[in-house]
Amino acid sequence: MSITENVKQLLSELPPGVELVAAVKGRPPQEIAEAVAAGVKIIGENHVQQAERDYDIIGKNVTWHMIGHLQKNKAKAAARIFDMVETLDSLELAKVLAGECYRINKTMPILIEVNIAREDQKSGIMPEKADWLVSEIAKLPNLKVKGLMTVGPNVENTEDIKPYFAQAKKIFDRINSLIIPGVEMAYLSMGMSGSYRIAIEEGANLIRIGTNIFAEEDRHSQH
Ligand SMILES: *Cc1c(COP(=O)(O)O)cnc(C)c1O
Repeated sequence: MSITENVKQLLSELPPGVELVAAVKGRPPQEIAEAVAAGVKIIGENHVQQAERDYDIIGKNVTWHMIGHLQKNKAKAAARIFDMVETLDSLELAKVLAGECYRINKTMPILIEVNIAREDQKSGIMPEKADWLVSEIAKLPNLKVKGLMTVGPNVENTEDIKPYFAQAKKIFDRINSLIIPGVEMAYLSMGMSGSYRIAIEEGANLIRIGTNIFAEEDRHSQH
């Protein structure tokens, strides 16, 4: 299948209200452009530098999401390029990003990344601290909390990720019920190529897909 066919197939599968983020992972701009032409509306970038390159080529016809860990020293460029940062996981980082957004008079929609399986090597805030981080970030100008994002653990059987996604949805619903001023819990970003169907079942409305769109094996094996 081509990138175009992959995107069309994915989009046709998505229930109403679920949006696709194409995780481009350093793919060449012409491949990204093909995905956009096929209907991708949101580009997910893991690195600010890569995003700067792609943004200059692809431009503003699409929406740009930061889905990788954001380093403080990249906050300035991130503030300029991105339409959403999905990976805020500390108040310190939030303050730096808010400062950079203030300088360019921009309000950045953000998601709080939750380390749902409490893995040492993963970024994201611990689940029990998510409420606290949301309410602290809500006090900052120039950032707008719009929901949660989680990556989830690597599991042997895809189905095993289900309870983690369910847990993320529970935290999402609980924070939503707190009705924190300035917080609008609109997005739950979870699910990747292997897990997006389960994620949607568990309440995701943003899914982040790379492999199923861009992987060479996928594209060539099915000819
Ligand atoms: C790479 C990546 C994805 C997409 O993963 P695939 O398995 O290739 O679909 C989603 N989210 C994040 C944060 C990623 O880094």
